[in-house]
Amino acid sequence: MRKKIIAGNWKMNKTVGEAIELANAVKLELADCNDVDVVLCPPFTALKSVSDIVSETQIAVGSQNMSSEDEGAYTGEICHTMLKEIFVRYVILGHSERREYYKETDFWINKKVVKALEKNLRPILCVGETLEDREAGNTEKVVEVQVREGLKDVDAAAFTELVIAYEPVWAIGTGKVATAQQAQDVHAFIRGIVKDMVGAEAADAVRIQYGGSMKPDNAVELLGQPDIDGGLIGGAALDATSFAAIVKAA
Ligand code: PGA
Repeated sequence: MRKKIIAGNWKMNKTVGEAIELANAVKLELADCNDVDVVLCPPFTALKSVSDIVSETQIAVGSQNMSSEDEGAYTGEICHTMLKEIFVRYVILGHSERREYYKETDFWINKKVVKALEKNLRPILCVGETLEDREAGNTEKVVEVQVREGLKDVDAAAFTELVIAYEPVWAIGTGKVATAQQAQDVHAFIRGIVKDMVGAEAADAVRIQYGGSMKPDNAVELLGQPDIDGGLIGGAALDATSFAAIVKAA
């Protein structure tokens, strides 16, 4: 039985002051919610404050990116040591916005995934097709490449730690949500790829989140699908009540 995991991706929103307010509100809403893993992913500048706020709760903190390097002359980058020092547990890697606007490739995303695992951080690897891919009938092809390349050289044992987020690009921030069946089909497909890569046990254990306009009113149906193990929430995570409602739906 896979434990559900709901993560809030705050993207480039919230100053430190606003982040403190939101994290406190989420903490209050989810005071006694233990059966779901909850992760808050504020921008780098607010990680420490949010980490302090949730330190004695079951809520974990994640960053939205991480360097594949250990330290040194990499202007603008943040490495694993810096994240672990402030008790960050998860790292979102390969989000479609980073792939699209910052040209992150599967090769670099894989280096980050491998580094995160080596340093005991839990990667949330994002994969997903564009509208163009879907309309051309290429959804499976695109997702398969991202999963295989992103998780290259990852041991079967690590699949209990890492998380895969299926986020159809056309559903992100658009209000256009994949139907529960569309999402379930791709999730089952991804689980099949993992099985082929590292075996049935790892495939059965790996948690696959859905992301893309998940809201309190569609969360129950999406999270009710057999291969959907949680959500990566953007817009709705910026409001404590909506985010908590999604966690409770899980
Ligand atoms: P959204 O974003 O919920 O606003 O669609 C999801 C994501 O990009 O992780």
